[in-house]
Amino acid sequence: DVVLDENISFQSLFLPENILKGLSDAGFQKPSPIQKKALPMGRCGFDLIVQSKSGTGKTLVFSIIALETIKLNKKEPQVLILSPTREIAVQIQDVIKTLGKYFEELQVVSFIGGLSIELDKVNCKSCHVAVGTPGRIKHLIQNGYLCTTSIKLFIVDEADKLIEDSFQNDVNEIYNSLPDRKQIIMSSATYSDELKEFLKNYMLSPTCASIESDNPLLLGLKHFVRIVIANPCIVPQIIRKNAEILRVLSTIPFKQCIVFSNYQSRAETLSNFLNRNGWKSIYISSSQRQDDRLNSLNSLKDFKCRIMVSTDLSSRGIDSANIDLIINYDIPVDAPTYLHRMGRAGRYGSSGICINLALLGKELDILQNILGIIGGPNLSIPVLNDELTI
Ligand code: ADP
Ligand code: MG
Repeated sequence: DVVLDENISFQSLFLPENILKGLSDAGFQKPSPIQKKALPMGRCGFDLIVQSKSGTGKTLVFSIIALETIKLNKKEPQVLILSPTREIAVQIQDVIKTLGKYFEELQVVSFIGGLSIELDKVNCKSCHVAVGTPGRIKHLIQNGYLCTTSIKLFIVDEADKLIEDSFQNDVNEIYNSLPDRKQIIMSSATYSDELKEFLKNYMLSPTCASIESDNPLLLGLKHFVRIVIANPCIVPQIIRKNAEILRVLSTIPFKQCIVFSNYQSRAETLSNFLNRNGWKSIYISSSQRQDDRLNSLNSLKDFKCRIMVSTDLSSRGIDSANIDLIINYDIPVDAPTYLHRMGRAGRYGSSGICINLALLGKELDILQNILGIIGGPNLSIPVLNDELTI
């Protein structure tokens, strides 16, 4: 199979010169397996379902196809990209801008809630590629600012998240405002049954580009559970967990770490707790103002801060190369959330560690259930002893 040849380069995919130069300037040498598989199909104009694990380069797949789709001399939106979080939208915008370095006067704009809409109303008239979150995009379309008549490509990143109840109506309305003839690309690491149903309604016999793997977890990541035993009558559980997290941070070597909590309020209090105990940290949660959210994420990406405490707001999509430790302070609610959280480390085959702080009892049961769903009954992860020896 020529297309899947190990040594295949971006050149041998016959990409246009300006994209090849953009790729090479950004330091991309060879396509990843999902890129090799999905790019040829997507570039033929087929509706495409892209599925591969976190950190395997799905963004480049649809970014390259997006750039090939637009006509620069036509100053109106031709590609529309949706993402479930504002931060992912901004990140996609950055990737396309970087890749499109040699596209003269290329306009890639992100439209996200929480920031001023006045500027959006102006920018959406003339951009080539519009990236945004469903609420803001829908608003701009329905109020006549964002014109969809020239949209030729509709991309849904983190597609299974975007068809969940909280987004589905907005996504439907956006979809209904698009021209009949268009290409659709769905991308995610996980595809729920609901998503498969949704796909039937919206895509014309889509082609599926997926990379299967025997190991459901990311190869470079090691997973552990630290069982936290707390008798709430004597020591509150939170005090035990806080003590454990300090021990983890001082025992396990790491470059950068994301600590996940299930609760907004806890992200902030936990970050304050870490700061008081000598671990400089930032937090990100949807209770923050949007510019603070983006600032938090930028200080993580620019390596100004080593620890970020987050809710599941950042469990998907966020790409920061140095993250090598994930701590689940709270056990995630379901298996897809576990897979997406851990995928914030181990980006593009790098190595990392994922530590679950599970209270004996309900939390440990939930974790075991999640691992069972992910890997079947044979998947178990080592328990960390009191010395936290890995
Ligand atoms: P996904 O969306 O599949 O989770 P991303 O698209 O965010 O993953 O890519 C993960 C990381 O891998 C990014 O930092 C990206 O720059 C890097 N990457 C993507 N494709 C390549 C490639 N062909 N060569 C080297 N690095 C790549
Ligand atoms: Mg992604």
